[in-house]
Amino acid sequence: MKSLIWFRRDLRLEDNRTFEQASGEVLPLFIFDSHLLSPLPKEDRRVGYIYGEVMRLKSELRARGLDLAIFYGEPLKILSRLKEQGFSRLFASQDYDSYALSRDEAARELLDCRFVLDNYLFDPNEVLKKEGSPYTIFSAYYNQSLKILSEGHYAKGLDLPKKLAPYPIPAPPSLESMGFSPLPLLESLKILPQKRLEEFSSKITRYALDRDSLEAEATSGLSLFLRFGTLGVREVIRRLKVWQEEGIKVAPFYRQILWREFYAMLLYHFPHSEREDFKPMQMRWSESQERLERWQKGECGVPLVDAGMRELNHTGFMHNRARMVCASFLTKNLHLHWSWGERYFASKLLDYDVAQNAGNWQWCAGSGADAQPFFRIFNPYTQSLKFDPKGEYVKRWIPELRGISTQNWSSEERWEGLKERYLAPIVSAKRSAQEAKAMQNTLRVSS
Ligand code: FAD
Repeated sequence: MKSLIWFRRDLRLEDNRTFEQASGEVLPLFIFDSHLLSPLPKEDRRVGYIYGEVMRLKSELRARGLDLAIFYGEPLKILSRLKEQGFSRLFASQDYDSYALSRDEAARELLDCRFVLDNYLFDPNEVLKKEGSPYTIFSAYYNQSLKILSEGHYAKGLDLPKKLAPYPIPAPPSLESMGFSPLPLLESLKILPQKRLEEFSSKITRYALDRDSLEAEATSGLSLFLRFGTLGVREVIRRLKVWQEEGIKVAPFYRQILWREFYAMLLYHFPHSEREDFKPMQMRWSESQERLERWQKGECGVPLVDAGMRELNHTGFMHNRARMVCASFLTKNLHLHWSWGERYFASKLLDYDVAQNAGNWQWCAGSGADAQPFFRIFNPYTQSLKFDPKGEYVKRWIPELRGISTQNWSSEERWEGLKERYLAPIVSAKRSAQEAKAMQNTLRVSS
């Protein structure tokens, strides 16, 4: 029997469950999905990153006497053509967003499909409440998963012998032929994922203390690699176990890895939460395009919010604390629905993943399964003072503020006196927060 190994969110050979399980005559393949790529701008850096990783995967496969057939087009049409060439079985890693689920359902109609758990630690039906329903409270999910994790070994699987099936491997499409400009790879992406994990060894002891600091660069920087599976999450767990045995306090890092699992599980069981409130909110949302555009450009006149958005626009990344402040500001100060911000992040974040993005946006907005309550509203000035006390982060992204003492944006009142030196704030953080709370209270009472 000839099998296809379809690489998707698992762009590596090392510890890849899908690749390991296939045996016999195989054709490894990757599809640049025209349905997903066509709405993206020519300069989308993610496509360039994936392209580089796919080409690397191809040469690694060739070094093993295999190869990678790279296609551009509609996956189902391509699979259907391959079926005509005698391929009857398909191995691929599980993927849970609504597009992926319906695509894979259609693939099942064509081929004998084995969807393998690889990109996450748990199948969405693995960590459930006693009566079998999904958890919606993170701490309960976390405790249960931690128990399973502490008992599991997460050893590498058995790489079954395979042989390249006879098939004329096509020349890979170029980035240009798919409508993209080849852009230089960002410096931050030039590092190998395994090296980044290795380097994190020197930071893990301070992670709990410094992970929220905008100045300390204390986080792992692994999200992009986990997103595309260039680093396997089981490798991260194995490393965490070693650190734990060395007496390092790793719980705060486990927590973040398990938030990732939690959001993937939630999206699987509650697919509407990809675009709609998990818990419907009572709020009169603004429809102001001007507010949205100023937020997107990092021109709200609020230092930390502008710095975060400029970091995103320049690098495709944003520190988690800044993501939280920018998301809170969009929803609770500018009164725009979270989905507007979610779509913008989706267009810019290198590590964009619908489950993580929508889940976190809903957490910040207050509509999520286990969210920050709507009435808890970040004050962006206080957040600056707390997490960027020397103003290094803000000044890196807003050169206009370099000559100004950070004390000036440590509170809204102080900032008021400085507003002619920069953009005047789009709204008063305090007043807009009070308005949001009042609006919520009124609508809740009258509904
Ligand atoms: P670390 O702090 O080193 O964390 C280690 C890993 O844990 C991360 O690589 C990531 O895989 C996971 N993780 C950490 N924080 C979270 C979290 N809050 N939720 C889920 N997983 C987490 N993360 C994405 O991967 N893709 C997204 O599209 C995304 N969108 C976000 C949108 C908003 C509004 C917010 C507030 C957060 C979002 N996050 C998203 C979560 C988080 O900001 C990033 O995962 C984190 O900043 C990545 O940096 P790191 O790898 O250095 O994280």
